[in-house]
This record gives sequence, C-alpha cells and structure tokens, in this order.
Amino acid sequence: MRALMQFFRSIFIVIILTLLTQVGGLIYLLYLPIKHWLTRRINSRWKVRLFRWSSFAIIYMLINLIFVPPLARQLGRLPLPWYATEEVPLQPANWVYCLANRHYVQPALYQLVAETAQKMATVTPYSKLIYLDANFPFFDGFPLLPHLSHNDGRKLDLAFLYQKNNSQALQSAPSTLGYGYNEPPKSHEINQPEICSQRGYWQYSLTTWLSPTISNPKITFNEAANRHLLQLFATNAKTGKIFIEPHLKQRLDLGSYSKIRFHGCQAVRHDDHIHIQL
Ligand SMILES: [Zn+2]
Repeated sequence: MRALMQFFRSIFIVIILTLLTQVGGLIYLLYLPIKHWLTRRINSRWKVRLFRWSSFAIIYMLINLIFVPPLARQLGRLPLPWYATEEVPLQPANWVYCLANRHYVQPALYQLVAETAQKMATVTPYSKLIYLDANFPFFDGFPLLPHLSHNDGRKLDLAFLYQKNNSQALQSAPSTLGYGYNEPPKSHEINQPEICSQRGYWQYSLTTWLSPTISNPKITFNEAANRHLLQLFATNAKTGKIFIEPHLKQRLDLGSYSKIRFHGCQAVRHDDHIHIQL
C-alpha cells in the first residue's frame, strides 16, 4: 500500500513539474534512483529530507543551466537573459521565469525585443525592458500554462512601463511576478474585462487572481513611454501582433496601428502586461 501511494505521489510530482517547467518532470525521474539510494543510506528523517531536497535542486539547476540552453539553441529557441546588459537590456520580472524554463524564444523574437529595448534605452529613461512569461525550451504545441498561445517560441509577455513618484522611471515590474498590476479602464473608456465577465469568460482576470497585487499610489502608468514602446513594436516588420486591452489602445491613441489588437475574451486581460508575437 505504501509503495503504491509513493508511486502515485511520484506521478503527481512529475505531472506538476512538467506542467510548470516542462523539463522538471523528466529531471525528477532521473533523480528518483538517487532519492531511493539516499533513503536507504540515511537513517535520520530530517537529514534524508534535507539531502533529497538539496540533491534534487542541484541536479535540476545543473541540467537547466548546462544542458537545456545549448539543446534548445540547436532546436531553434534561445533563453532570454537573466540580467540586463548594455547589448541586451532585458531582464525577467522575477528569476522564477528562468528557473522554470519559461524564458525561451525563437531567435527572431529575441532580436526584435533586444533591438526594441536598446532603442528604448537610448531615447527614454528606461534602461531595460522587463519580460514575464515567454515559452518553454522545446516542442511546438506544448502549452505554457496558464497562457493559451505561448507554445511555439513566438510569443512573449512584457511589463508595461511605470513611474515612481510621477517622475522616476521604475526599472522593474510593479508586482512580484509582473502580472496582476492592472491599469483598469476609466469610466468613459471601453470596459472589456466587464464585457468578457458578463459573457461568462470567468478566466479573463485569471492573472489578477494568480498574482494578486496591492495598488501603490506612488507607481503610475507612464503613458508617453508606453506609447513609444508600443509604436516601436508596431512599426517593426518582425512583429506579427501585439495584444493590449482596448481601453489602453484608445487611451494611448494607437488606433491607427493595425498590429495592436484585441485578443478575445477567451484569453486573459492585457492591462497588466503587453503580449507580443512574431
Ligand atoms: Zn502572452
């Protein structure tokens, strides 16, 4: 009975790790013989737990840092940087995205975002762009939950640009994961979240629930900088589509850019992040 419980527990862990990190489930399977070896060798309960956790963490990190990036490169996806540099002024909102292998894109998308970030750094006070979820390293069609379309290396979410105390450029995302800090519609603007929820699309504000944030009155949405950023993307031939909420397209006076579109009620709201795709 105990062995059966352990078997189902392992299956559950493999599924969760695969859904969250793609490669994590496979790494867990590779680690299982080590886990059993440690369990047989060490008698102390807390010691065995400590050794198990640390050995899994070490194996996970080694495989993700040493083996996954070159293999993904061979198969056509590049990891976005962990740190912003002068050449590539891009950084994740949180290292969780890199640790979970959710920061891979096709080379053309890498180039598009890097060159846009460089342009922004030269003409605005924003020294870097902040990215959120991208794609997993391998296989077209493998979903990056909870996103519907981030499954082919061609999609990337970016944080909007904000100001601190109405003057200073905020060089980070306004929330821990970057999602959930909404710039909601004003009373005279189209209220798409309300329209979608009235139509029964309960998931439309899912990112707000998954990444709850407390609104900070000192942090404000930078309309001019966001308009400039979206114009750069919208006028770049590499860009396919850009998704933001309709009220922000209206507010930022971007009506003439056909690449900036509404994503549909089946997706999640886009007034806390920008979605770009090739
Ligand atoms: Zn997206």
